[in-house]
Amino acid sequence: MTDFVIVGGGVGGLVLARRLVLGGADVIVLEASDRLGGSVASHTVGGIQLDAGAESFATRRGTVATLARSLKLGDDIVEPNPAGAWLQPATGPAFRLPLNSMLGIPGSPLAADVTPIIGGRAATRAYLETLLPGPYAAKSKTLGELVRRRMGEAVLDQLVRPIVRGVHSADPDDLDLDKVAPGLRAAMIDTGSLARAVRSLQESSGRAGSSVAGIRGGIFRIVEALAADLDRFGVDVRLNSRVENVADGRALVGVEGGSSGTHIQGRAIVAAPGILGDVSNRGHRVVLATLVVDQPLLDAAPRGTGLLVAKDGSGIPADGGIRAKALTHVTAKWEWVAERAEGKHVLRLSYDDDSADLAEVARADAEALLGVPIPTSSVLAFGRSEWYRPPRLTHTPDGIHVVGETIAGTGLANVVGQADELAGNLLRDS
Ligand SMILES: Cc1cc2nc3c(=O)[nH]c(=O)nc-3n(C[C@H](O)[C@H](O)[C@H](O)COP(=O)(O)OP(=O)(O)OC[C@H]3O[C@@H](n4cnc5c(N)ncnc54)[C@H](O)[C@@H]3O)c2cc1C
Repeated sequence: MTDFVIVGGGVGGLVLARRLVLGGADVIVLEASDRLGGSVASHTVGGIQLDAGAESFATRRGTVATLARSLKLGDDIVEPNPAGAWLQPATGPAFRLPLNSMLGIPGSPLAADVTPIIGGRAATRAYLETLLPGPYAAKSKTLGELVRRRMGEAVLDQLVRPIVRGVHSADPDDLDLDKVAPGLRAAMIDTGSLARAVRSLQESSGRAGSSVAGIRGGIFRIVEALAADLDRFGVDVRLNSRVENVADGRALVGVEGGSSGTHIQGRAIVAAPGILGDVSNRGHRVVLATLVVDQPLLDAAPRGTGLLVAKDGSGIPADGGIRAKALTHVTAKWEWVAERAEGKHVLRLSYDDDSADLAEVARADAEALLGVPIPTSSVLAFGRSEWYRPPRLTHTPDGIHVVGETIAGTGLANVVGQADELAGNLLRDS
């Protein structure tokens, strides 16, 4: 009998499978689709192979970098252009995000990239926060309340609110402080100031430079390397095998196909959304538009590595017409993509909704956001990809182990870290 049956071949399931087989277990991976990787995938647009889903990873705790090194991809870990990203607020011109900040909360309120945004008086008010007693406002429930009480209304309105709306599509006054910024409250009490807390969290995240990194050639190479290892270690990986249910977490997995399906024995571990919890809720839809354009004016990277677009409270698009939630200037962000694009530019825009004329919508949005003409004739290629971001599981049935973003939280750093930890526990207990 197989020791473990892993349901789902995304990064969570693959990392878990690799760790378990290296620990001596017998493992089967069942993947519903015809490919491995889940939200990590590639597509080719204008002859350039690019990431179609995740395109970077958080460097905190070094989890993904350690995995990449163990997959012999260590020499290909790359940092993005340090120019950083910009924010397009709901009204007014775009501005560069302060480099030393967290969710818009400045680590150095008097810094040269903060004062032009909020003004000298507001910056001084925010700086005076360092003189307030450390625990003051520590009982704030929401992020908005904490920032308002420690640093003042201007920091909240002009920095934190538009950035948080761009990242979380929610108002800071509606966001639970401990969920949106884990550790910030404790760091503030510890260091005696919100600004110092932001700085200390950045330092403790171990980032020498950037908080994210990529892989030369694409993040999808991690999946290719994981799949190659599983093949080498003799793991039974079955594509096109949609699991309909997990009977009790220890024995039976029903697989679609045939009149009654196939039952596979083993200890089932759920590494896929849509099996537990509210299975009718696929989660939040994300549509990505990728453009390859020939426009030398973009060589100057007018908005750094890209922009977040903040919507106002009622969800009205910024500038009245921009529908994108974010734009990544991929060739400005990643040197390896610029090399492969040979002078052309790659832009990736994300949307909550699809539209029949997505290529044209994306072209017009890119032109407005980057402040550079992008005529239709300059668009050489267009690619589209669509994803669902699953809701978090609020509880798991007794005896069933779950791995991946439904339980670990979004992002490869969370998913890889949790898969590693679960593998260690399972091997210890078996
Ligand atoms: C557009 C986009 C951009 C992103 N960008 C980044 C980024 O830059 N940096 C970052 O760190 N993270 C990013 N993420 C998030 C990151 O990709 C995910 O958190 C992570 O890849 C999730 O991995 P997972 O294994 O938990 O789930 P998934 O990747 O969702 O994998 C789940 C797998 O289970 C399979 N499956 C589903 N149902 C069944 C079933 N019934 N039976 C069998 N198999 C099933 C699916 O086909 C899929 O292959 C991004 C995500 C998206 C969608």
